[in-house]
Amino acid sequence: MTFGHDKLINDLKDRDWETQRNAANDLAAIGDSRAVEPLAEASRCMNGDVGKAAAEALLLVFERLPKISIERRASILCAVCLCRCAEMKVQVGFSPIFLYYFACPKCRRASFIDNVNKVVIVLDNSTCLDETYVHDGSTLVVNLHARFVYGRLTPFDFDEIRIVKETVREIDDLMALLWKYMDDEHRNRCKTIPVYVSPTVQLSQWARDMFRDAFGEMRAIPVMPPTFAIVFDIAKLGSNAYGPKAWEAVWRNCSPREAIGAALFEGDSAATLQGMENVYLCAFRGLDPGTQRRFENIMNGSGSGAYLRCDSSIHLATEPLRMCGVVIRTPTGIDIDESAGAGWAKAGLNTANGGRKWWQFRK
Ligand SMILES: [Zn+2]
Repeated sequence: MTFGHDKLINDLKDRDWETQRNAANDLAAIGDSRAVEPLAEASRCMNGDVGKAAAEALLLVFERLPKISIERRASILCAVCLCRCAEMKVQVGFSPIFLYYFACPKCRRASFIDNVNKVVIVLDNSTCLDETYVHDGSTLVVNLHARFVYGRLTPFDFDEIRIVKETVREIDDLMALLWKYMDDEHRNRCKTIPVYVSPTVQLSQWARDMFRDAFGEMRAIPVMPPTFAIVFDIAKLGSNAYGPKAWEAVWRNCSPREAIGAALFEGDSAATLQGMENVYLCAFRGLDPGTQRRFENIMNGSGSGAYLRCDSSIHLATEPLRMCGVVIRTPTGIDIDESAGAGWAKAGLNTANGGRKWWQFRK
């Protein structure tokens, strides 16, 4: 038994022309992109009334479809299948008119996840993600465990595999399932897909052979070096808006010019979230060791009341910090680029200088 959308599409092929015509009108009202192809087919129906109703319905559905600019198209994924969407083409009746629309090539839906430049499959049993995927910046991170648990076994588009933490057995099982549910097109594409494996992960001979024969290059996931953090006492920062106040204290003392290229992170420490301390971290990744020591000396001598200490052994895998910008050089001076993750670092930089830009303040 079929309902709703599926029933209407079946009705388009009904023997009774009135049922067919009504189905065409109802599909026009729904405006679902999945109706486009069945309506185009019905528009070539030998019964003129049905053909005409279907052609009119087709144009109505078409009007309602989202219009996607060319620039956005390359980074759009089907929200259901996780496949790259593409331009589809249908003929209206027997006329020379063709309609072009943007939809999923597998399911013909036009429900999109926007701004996906890369899809990464992650095998990591230390995360217990309830969701199948996480949209992280412009990367869609697919949790393979969750995807199989939720029963989505259709092939999808991915660009990279990262094996972070799994047992030998789990890797074999998950990879066997992934391979089983891939179609030929996806299996062929695997030859160019890199597989990143954490140095702590063990692989069976079967998995090694599979990655070597069917996939692209196998590489080690680099182990992230520890991150440098300046630690503040939240109580002394004042409970309101302590993020910008902490960064203000950082930039009053430490020159952003020395931190060009560094990625900035911020947040309450993991122990703070568990109620064991009450500290806020302003963290830098990518500072050279000399600058790190200089920042530590400056902060130690700063006399800033809320400053507690510096810590150069912070791990972003265990501290729940979020990215809040990258220090960049601009044609006019120094700025914080927040395009990969926004937070308080930039606000703190501006208030540290009384609202003036840093480069106007210090020549
Ligand atoms: Zn789809």
